[in-house]
Amino acid sequence: MKHSTAPRGTVDILPPETAQWQVLERLIDETCTRFGYREIRTPIFESTEVFVKPIGEGTDIVDKEMYTFTDRAGRSLTLRPELTAPVVRAALQHNLLASLPLKLYYRGPIFRYERPQKGRYRQAHQWGVECFGAPGPEADVEIISLGLEAMRRAGITDYRLEINSLGCETCRARFREALVAFLRDRASSLSPTSRDRLSRNPLRILDSKEPADHDVLLQAPTMDGFLCSACAEHFAAVRTLLEAMGIRALHNPHIVRGLDYYTRTVFEISSTHLGAQNTVCGGGRYDGLVKAMGGPSIPGVGLAMGMERMLLVAREAGTLPARDGKPALDVAFVALDEASAHLLVPVLNSVRRLGYAADMDYTRRAIDKQLRAAGDSGARWAVIVGEDERATGAATVQNLVTRERVRVGLDELPADIARRLA
Ligand code: ATP
Ligand code: MG
Repeated sequence: MKHSTAPRGTVDILPPETAQWQVLERLIDETCTRFGYREIRTPIFESTEVFVKPIGEGTDIVDKEMYTFTDRAGRSLTLRPELTAPVVRAALQHNLLASLPLKLYYRGPIFRYERPQKGRYRQAHQWGVECFGAPGPEADVEIISLGLEAMRRAGITDYRLEINSLGCETCRARFREALVAFLRDRASSLSPTSRDRLSRNPLRILDSKEPADHDVLLQAPTMDGFLCSACAEHFAAVRTLLEAMGIRALHNPHIVRGLDYYTRTVFEISSTHLGAQNTVCGGGRYDGLVKAMGGPSIPGVGLAMGMERMLLVAREAGTLPARDGKPALDVAFVALDEASAHLLVPVLNSVRRLGYAADMDYTRRAIDKQLRAAGDSGARWAVIVGEDERATGAATVQNLVTRERVRVGLDELPADIARRLA
């Protein structure tokens, strides 16, 4: 029978690469914890409505990328394409917003029906943070510095941070009007997608990757000319605080993000290492989201970072453990026959319970092959038992570096190994 393969756009993460993922996961946990964020884990699937309104019709995610299905009871469910909306859903459901500020982080899989390529998958992994109840620019810059700190710890220092302000509902409405007026006059030069968005989600046109749109957009009005004084002040403070932290940020008035719920600050962090898919991180402020999802009016700001893309960059920078790094073993158990293997099972268990990495070869292959594998595992000691050893109730303990051998009684073996490894 022909074996199956993983669905298009998904990848199996195999050892030893999983070791890199573990390093990255630990680094994310530590960084978020240091910044005062606690972990939240939400379901892989949600009611479809959790995503549609908050992310917005007319966005790539809602229009083309969601994995939506009907379950056996006829409910519409969607595999989460992002986690901000689920986090808000959970915060409202469990009344977490009763005590503010609320600072949460997450990491896990997301699902988007995209054309698979390097750094772009149908099941990918994101980590991110959300801070609720903080209206001021300190929270915006905390989030940005947290993202950069996680990248720095993964060895990624060649970042490019671009920021922009989308203003609030009031000033954005005036901007949208001016933008639509401008683009309507030039609609024939726009790509078909952008022409379609002109009536549905005109701001998203600013984010277009279609070359056809670029010339038009270069001349288009930008948000900075329309910011109300409160929004302009907020944006100026964000930039001043970033500067005070020594973080270089480029103001790019064309950054709008793909999601509808952003207000004021939006930002993207990219790396020169990634080529086409060079955005590692996106984020911003979403002061209207909690209310739009049925909660009180509570401001929020957050970011989301792609873990595959972080690893791609970190690998090129050579700053995470090598792809072919073997797991370190302290002791290798070598049994020469079945009776010896059975004799060693409880000893192996005792050594493991003392906290050492120990393993036994269960394949019953020849001793030289077992010893070679033991050496390759990085173990410093091998415990060998065969017919001779069994007769005396002892094991041969071999130093795999010097090849020296001694006999040790089986009863004393766990303590003896512990002494040697201390
Ligand atoms: P892009 O412009 O690359 O499509 P996006 O704007 O859709 O990105 P966000 O929704 O802001 O991305 O998600 C934040 C981060 O999650 C991205 O910067 C990226 O690192 C990662 N990401 C998003 N979609 C994918 C995907 N399909 N495969 C791998 N990583 C992804
Ligand atoms: Mg996308």
